[in-house]
Amino acid sequence: MDYDVIIIGAGPGGIYSAYELKKKRPDLKVAVFEAGMELAKRHCPIDGEKIKKCVGCKSCSIMSGFGGAGAFSDGKYNITNDFGGTLYEHIGRNKAIELMKYVDSINLENGGEGCKIYSTAGTSLKKTCMQNKLKLLEASVRHLGTDINYVVLENLYNYLKDTVDFHFMTSISSLEVIEGGYRVMNGEGSYTCRQCIVSVGRSGSKWMESICENLNIPAKSNRVDIGVRVELPAVIFSHLTDELYESKIVYRTEKFEDNVRTFCMNPHGIVVTENTNGIITVNGHSYEAKDKQTENTNFALLVAKHFSEPFKDSNGYGESIARLSNMLGGGVIVQRFGDLMRGRRSNEKRIAEGMVQPTLNATPGDLSLVLPKRILDGIMEMIHALDKIAPGTANDDTLLYGVEVKFYNMEVKVDENLETEYPGLYIIGDGSGVTHSLSHASASGVYVARRIAETI
Ligand SMILES: Cc1cc2nc3c(=O)[nH]c(=O)nc-3n(C[C@H](O)[C@H](O)[C@H](O)COP(=O)(O)OP(=O)(O)OC[C@H]3O[C@@H](n4cnc5c(N)ncnc54)[C@H](O)[C@@H]3O)c2cc1C
Repeated sequence: MDYDVIIIGAGPGGIYSAYELKKKRPDLKVAVFEAGMELAKRHCPIDGEKIKKCVGCKSCSIMSGFGGAGAFSDGKYNITNDFGGTLYEHIGRNKAIELMKYVDSINLENGGEGCKIYSTAGTSLKKTCMQNKLKLLEASVRHLGTDINYVVLENLYNYLKDTVDFHFMTSISSLEVIEGGYRVMNGEGSYTCRQCIVSVGRSGSKWMESICENLNIPAKSNRVDIGVRVELPAVIFSHLTDELYESKIVYRTEKFEDNVRTFCMNPHGIVVTENTNGIITVNGHSYEAKDKQTENTNFALLVAKHFSEPFKDSNGYGESIARLSNMLGGGVIVQRFGDLMRGRRSNEKRIAEGMVQPTLNATPGDLSLVLPKRILDGIMEMIHALDKIAPGTANDDTLLYGVEVKFYNMEVKVDENLETEYPGLYIIGDGSGVTHSLSHASASGVYVARRIAETI
């Protein structure tokens, strides 16, 4: 065998697997295969001036490369079982929290020291939310910020690079079961190993589906979250963000009894585009460094949709909606809340005259031509509900960017060890459909690494 352990994907799941393996079993020969580039070479060409829109690079630097989809993220490590994945269903609630705390301690040792941890424990905001038909979910969140998150990744890479074989720009095309292990192949060669950890994240979802099909590993459809990103003056949400940084708030709509929730809150942040398999959607970032902060706060409002019979392709549904917005806006569409309420398209002039300066250069348009009525009605209801706990949310000038879609991978059948029915083949992180966050994906990496360290 070329290696004891091969890890496919260098996102948080893959990185923490490698980290823990090196820590517990430095004698093992470990390789990481990554479709994208090493951290220092990851640069998205969009600069907002010369290049304003996605140019479809061979490897998307936002989603792929060392650090995975999380590399330029806001670095919010949420320590909770309430959201971010269902890892606890496999490994138990206490274990999941213990591992998320362990990951947090590694982040602190590697550059994150001094980053604040926020918590919902004991906050009076819970009551305020409840009084206004809103539910605040429980969590502690360590906010590294995009800049410190990068430093932590840099340090982890420096720690690993001399003892782990990293193969960048090496997309694995197939995975075969061989006697006593596995063979992975890319266009140029093949490598064998005794045990294999697959951690290909969201960008590897189509590949993951093909592997499940080839190896007959059962997988079931997951949900898709569809909505918009809201951008408003930071001061409107400051009482929430100063205390909690990120608040996950759920609202049950009166009209359809759907749950709408806030997601990925970025105080003083910027709105960014995201490219998933050629589809441009919207997301958000924020920075710890004061000089990079803006006057705005952004967050997503999402509605979950899960299709099962006869139509099963929840992601396909989300993709179609995102494609429609790309078709109408050439990318992301932006609309003032006041224009949406009045049933008219936003234009450059009204946006420029508004009180909220957009942090993303998007096409002014009409989101009601893109989002299904049920989803849009839910979002509008939620904005009015949020206006009661954060007056000003429903101002005319509040900006809505669309569409934001959170795709989830098929949920792959793995056991309590996150192992498939093939001994020594583990599927972890967002690629497994079990996790959807930095802390859960990282914790799943530590978990399988410990198991391999004990059993190999
Ligand atoms: C803009 C943005 C902001 C985010 N902000 C946050 C946040 O603040 N907090 C939070 O909890 N979560 C956040 N997330 C989500 C978080 O980044 C993911 O949940 C997390 O990165 C999942 O980790 P992972 O290792 O499972 O997968 P990924 O990070 O997606 O890594 C998978 C890696 O596998 C590689 N790969 C895929 N297929 C192959 C193949 N065939 N061969 C070789 N390599 C392959 C990919 O290139 C990628 O680098 C954000 C995501 C984005 C895009």
